[in-house]
Amino acid sequence: ADFAKLGINKTLCRCLEQKLGYAKPTKIQRAVIPALITGDDDMFVQAQTGSGKTLAFSVPIIERLMRASDGSVNRKSGIFAIVLSPTRELATQTYEFLTNKLCSACHWIVPGLVIGGEKKKSEKARIRKGVNILVATPGRLADHIENTNKLDLSKVRYLVLDEGDRMMDLGFEEAIGKLLTCLESVFEPRLPQNLQNCLPAKRVNILCSATMEGTVKKLGQMSLKDAKLITT
Ligand code: AMP
Repeated sequence: ADFAKLGINKTLCRCLEQKLGYAKPTKIQRAVIPALITGDDDMFVQAQTGSGKTLAFSVPIIERLMRASDGSVNRKSGIFAIVLSPTRELATQTYEFLTNKLCSACHWIVPGLVIGGEKKKSEKARIRKGVNILVATPGRLADHIENTNKLDLSKVRYLVLDEGDRMMDLGFEEAIGKLLTCLESVFEPRLPQNLQNCLPAKRVNILCSATMEGTVKKLGQMSLKDAKLITT
């Protein structure tokens, strides 16, 4: 009942409560989920690892995709969200959480992973088949965009910069800047009819960081517009 109060549909609530065994939303989830389900504001979320931030930004994206008129979303519908992570480990963790946990309630929504390394081939094959939520490390994604040139990013409505402070520490400012420019230039305002009523008309940017001070401020200036501040 606690998750339902945040505006999450029954199927997804059942998944969270019964399959994943979460009794109630965390503080950050109570702040972020309803705001992202009902509004399209950018967000600067101050959150530590362990706060439940992954679920906080994932559930609204999935909730809104689930609202697309019945059966009309599949892996070929387009990339609607990008989640950037500082490390391959975190990207893999987020991807597996989406694939094995959250999307078990909605198998038609397909996550993808772009981190390179040994699994590069299978990674590419999966991306080519079509994915809806792309989890990536910034350098590798920039690489894909420059060299493959086959990623259609015109429908991206959510950009999540997870652990933004660490991404700045690791020197990803330039790669993220390039991605932002690219998203800007390919953005297609007109979504297919089945998605117009559930997804935002603009791109929603969400920056998560353990701290709000230091170089992450610059990342905020680069990526956010009139952002809501969420602190815990
Ligand atoms: P995160 O902050 O996203 O790294 O999540 C930390 C851990 O908390 C993960 O293992 C999640 O599975 C778990 N978690 C997320 N939301 C909840 C919740 N509402 N109740 C209990 N555990 C949760």
